[in-house]
Amino acid sequence: HTSSHSGQGRPRAVAGGGGHIARKRFGQNFLVDQGVIAEIVRAIAPKPGEALVEIGPGLGALTDPVVERCEKLTVVELDRDLAARLRLRPELDVIESDVLKVDFAQLARERGVKLRMIGNLPYNISSPILFHLLPCADVVVDQHFMLQKEVVDRMVATPGHKDYSRLSVMLQWRYDMECVVDVPPGSFDPPPKVNSAVVRMTPLAEVPDVDPKVLEAMVAVAFSQRRKILRHTLGAWITQQGITTDFDLQRRAEEVPVAEYLALAAQVRKPA
Ligand code: SAM
Repeated sequence: HTSSHSGQGRPRAVAGGGGHIARKRFGQNFLVDQGVIAEIVRAIAPKPGEALVEIGPGLGALTDPVVERCEKLTVVELDRDLAARLRLRPELDVIESDVLKVDFAQLARERGVKLRMIGNLPYNISSPILFHLLPCADVVVDQHFMLQKEVVDRMVATPGHKDYSRLSVMLQWRYDMECVVDVPPGSFDPPPKVNSAVVRMTPLAEVPDVDPKVLEAMVAVAFSQRRKILRHTLGAWITQQGITTDFDLQRRAEEVPVAEYLALAAQVRKPA
């Protein structure tokens, strides 16, 4: 559907956006609070010569202060009108595309350097973006992303915490993560309905040899009924895999540390 505004009444141009009207279907909430923008750029700390890649530059709230510091910047923008504006700027390398179709491993190979990913992500596809980038972790220096606060809480949650979930295990497997800036709705135009936060994700140097498909299937089963003892859920899966293990099934999914899930997944032979 093409409804292009989130508020009531007549579509209204974004503050300082040269007449641009926010497209809801592209998850467009533009950062306008200069204090928050400065705080995020400080957290990113871009340096000359680094290969930064911004997902969803939009009207350039982060793009401008970042490219000022690192000289060249690659941006990935799906909105045709916004991409056309960005192309007028010689210091930007504009990829007009759906970020989920961009091969970042290839981009890193072409550049011959590791990438620093940044972006105030479109919230409607934030999880798919995180999973799209997961296999590229070895060509990435770090990622600074603005997401829904609730998603960031799940990403960084540890065992025993109510937010500890599939997302925690699937991402903590490959990244060290920390929440670096909290951002209220009023920092955006139009304001989103939820709180936001910037998370820093740093790929871990040592990663256990685990088939991500196996891990994903296993964690989905474990967390399918997070309040139940794992014997009832994961127990059946372990039997199906034909593995013997001393994994303690008298616990609930939310009590098991990431390392133990990884050790269990590593015991399952990869399909030929
Ligand atoms: N960076 C800007 C800011 O902070 O003001 C805009 C952030 S806005 C939350 C998300 C941006 O991602 C928009 O510019 C939107 O057009 C773009 N976008 C949405 N879906 C996309 C996709 N699939 N691929 C690339 N960019 C996308």
